[in-house]
Amino acid sequence: MINDTMYALGANRSVIRDLFEYGNERAKAVGRENIYDFSLGNPSVPAPKAVNEAILDIVSSVPSVAIHGYTSAQGSEKTRAAIVNDLNNRFGTSYTPAEIYITCGAAASLISVLRALITGNDTEILGIAPYFPEYRCFTEANGGIFKLVPADEKNFQIDFAALDTYITENTAAVIINSPNNPSGTVYSEETIKKLSALLQEKSAQYGHAIYLISDEPYRELVYDGAAVPFPPLYYKNTVICYSYSKSLSLPGERIGYILVPQTAINGAQLYAAAAGAARASGYVCAPSLLQQVIERCADVRPDLTEYIENRDLLYKALTKIGYKCVYPKGAFYMFMEAPGGDGNKFSEFAKKYDLLLVPGESFGCKRFLRISYCVSQEMIKKSIPAFKKAFEEFHG
Ligand code: PLP
Repeated sequence: MINDTMYALGANRSVIRDLFEYGNERAKAVGRENIYDFSLGNPSVPAPKAVNEAILDIVSSVPSVAIHGYTSAQGSEKTRAAIVNDLNNRFGTSYTPAEIYITCGAAASLISVLRALITGNDTEILGIAPYFPEYRCFTEANGGIFKLVPADEKNFQIDFAALDTYITENTAAVIINSPNNPSGTVYSEETIKKLSALLQEKSAQYGHAIYLISDEPYRELVYDGAAVPFPPLYYKNTVICYSYSKSLSLPGERIGYILVPQTAINGAQLYAAAAGAARASGYVCAPSLLQQVIERCADVRPDLTEYIENRDLLYKALTKIGYKCVYPKGAFYMFMEAPGGDGNKFSEFAKKYDLLLVPGESFGCKRFLRISYCVSQEMIKKSIPAFKKAFEEFHG
C-alpha cells in the first residue's frame, strides 16, 4: 500500500517545475539561447568570495573527520554562536546559541516549526497572498489546515480587514514572507506593527499565543535602502525561519536555521518541539562543511549590483512597452499584471514567444505573473523584443 497524499505530491510537478521542464524541451528544439526562461528562483549571482575561500581553507586545513563528521542535532555550538552574534549586532538583541536550530534550508525550518505547532486536524495555519505555495503542502502534509488570506493587490502589504476575519480560535500561526516571493515587496514597519497589534489582540481573545512565522530567505536582498523590520522586535511570539539559499547563493547546499526566542510564550517547549519535528523528519545535523562555512561567514552579505541592474533594466523596459508591474524593492522577482487580466492565459500565450512566465494563480493572485530576474542580463536584453511582440499581438 502506498500513501495517496505523498504519491500525489511526488507524481505531480509544480507549475513552476512544469514550465522549467517545458523550457528544457523547447531548448532542445530551438536552442537554449532562444528561450527566455524566467521561471526559477535560482540565484544568478555567484556565492561571495568569502564563502569559496572559507570552503577552500576548511578542506585544506581541517582534518577530514572534523569537517565531515556529525555535529549535535541542533548544529555546532560555534556556528550557532556566530549566527546569534550577527543577529545581536544588527538588531540589538541578546540571543544565545540555545535559541538557534540549524537546518537544511528554509523548507526544513518551516516544516519543523509547522509540525511543532500542528496539534490536531483542526489546527489552522494562515498564509498571506501572494505566498510561497509550499506553505500549503508543508501544512497539509503534516495534518493541518492551510488558509490563504487574499492579497492586498493595491500595494501588496497586508489586507488587515481580511486577515482579521480569517483568524479563529484554531489559528496556531500566521506565516509571512518579506521581502516577498513573488511580489518583491517589503513589508513596512507600519504593516509589522499593525500585524503585531492584531496578533496580540487575537491571542488574548482566544487565550493562546498565535505565533508569527517569519520566512526570511530574502532578508538581505533589498534595494533602494529599503528597511526590513525584524519582526521579533515588534511581536515577541515570532519564530524566524532563515536560509542562506538566496543571501549567500547556496540553494543546493541546504543550510539555514530556526530562531525560537526564549522570550516567546512557551519558547523553550516550542524549541524542543521544533527539534523533535526536525528529528522525526530526519533533519538532524545539517551539512557539517556548510555549518563551518557559516561559522566563518554569518556576517557576509551578498553583492546586489547584478540584481539591481536586472531589476532596473526589466522594469524600465516592461513598463515602457505598457506592462504594469509591481515595483520590487527586494528578492529577485517582479510581479506583473497579466494583459487581459488572466495570468494562466497570458503565460500560455507568452510561450509562443518562448517567454516562460509563472502564472500568479500558484501564488494566490490569478491576475498576475511572476518573472524571476535572477538570470543573465544578456537574456533579459534579448527577451525585450519578445515581450514587446507578445504585448502587441495580445492587444490585437
Ligand atoms: N520560502 C520562500 C519564500 C522561498 O522562496 C523559498 C525558496 O525559493 C523557500 C522558502 C525555500 O528555501 P530553501 O531553499 O532554503 O529551502
